[in-house]
Amino acid sequence: MKPVLRFDDPSITVAVVGCGGFIGSHLLQAIFEKTCWRVFGVDLESYRIQQHLANPRLEFLCADLADSSVIKRVAAFPVVINLAAICTPSRYMDEAAEVIRSNYDHPARLADACLKSGAWLVHFSTSEIYGKTSAESGLLNEDHTEISFGPVSASRWSYATAKLLTERYIAGLSGLSWTVVRPFNFVGPYMDYMPGVDGEGIPRVLANFSSALVRGEPLALVNGGKAKRSFTSVHDAVEFLFCLFGAAPESCDHQAFNVGNPDNELSIGELAQKMRSIYASIRGVDVSSIPEPREISGEEYYGAGYEDSMRRLPDVSKAERLVNFRARTPLDEVLRESLEWFVSHYS
Ligand code: UDP
Repeated sequence: MKPVLRFDDPSITVAVVGCGGFIGSHLLQAIFEKTCWRVFGVDLESYRIQQHLANPRLEFLCADLADSSVIKRVAAFPVVINLAAICTPSRYMDEAAEVIRSNYDHPARLADACLKSGAWLVHFSTSEIYGKTSAESGLLNEDHTEISFGPVSASRWSYATAKLLTERYIAGLSGLSWTVVRPFNFVGPYMDYMPGVDGEGIPRVLANFSSALVRGEPLALVNGGKAKRSFTSVHDAVEFLFCLFGAAPESCDHQAFNVGNPDNELSIGELAQKMRSIYASIRGVDVSSIPEPREISGEEYYGAGYEDSMRRLPDVSKAERLVNFRARTPLDEVLRESLEWFVSHYS
């Protein structure tokens, strides 16, 4: 059963796996600002959380869930938030087996350990589990939407398959206290990396577009940029977690939640134009001096086996009804904050 969590209770320690990543770094900041809790944080990298490493309320372990002794230590805490994942699209294609190991094997073992210890597991899944949606797909609902993936030869779906199997495994563990979060394109400072600088392969679209803008290169529009996404501020995502922490156990135990912002939907082509304008205004130059996007096929960009979700629009009524959460940050604000951060960090 989810424990009662008072924000002013200094005896609470939460375990955050993946605390050094994009979402984890924002979550840590908010926990230290808004609560008296301690954090047992696990990650392989810590550059995003440098400012917290000397905080006596953080115990940081540089490790990952491939190590079974780490799983045991993590599950000893009453609240376990698992943010760890390989979520770089180009790796779904090139390293499918490793993507499946890290997104299924390790979280499944963590769920087993939480069942044993009685910890409440908050598992971060993905909106990618809704699979190969079409341009006509409407609102994606946690409990009613039918899911279909492409064939096994389309490796794009390796990540989604592993994530969905993990959700099914967690839901199948009778007696485990769990909540699943399905993020819809979270964006904000510290998202992903700049290829060739602090990471390799192809990051997600926002980091990719930001990198191209900083380098003065054209943005790559995969298959014409017709796919649509709804972008969500990472600050709203953290706010959702605080709604969850404060919610009654019966509102969130054994539930999967979409966390997204349906008001922020647009096509990737529209996103490219918006980001060109915001970048031009940050730099104080005319938008005509920023290169026009170039179109490229998915196969050429990501390799054979690339398929796409054409629309990912979250039904967010469940989060609103059960934990009183609604994402509110408008798209222009989210994009400007992210791009300003990217420019100041990498320029
Ligand atoms: N995309 C693109 N150019 C890029 C990176 C991604 O056009 O440089 C497209 C991609 O094909 C997809 C959408 O942008 O349609 C979002 O891709 P992302 O990698 O961010 O993750 P997804 O939302 O598909 O999980």
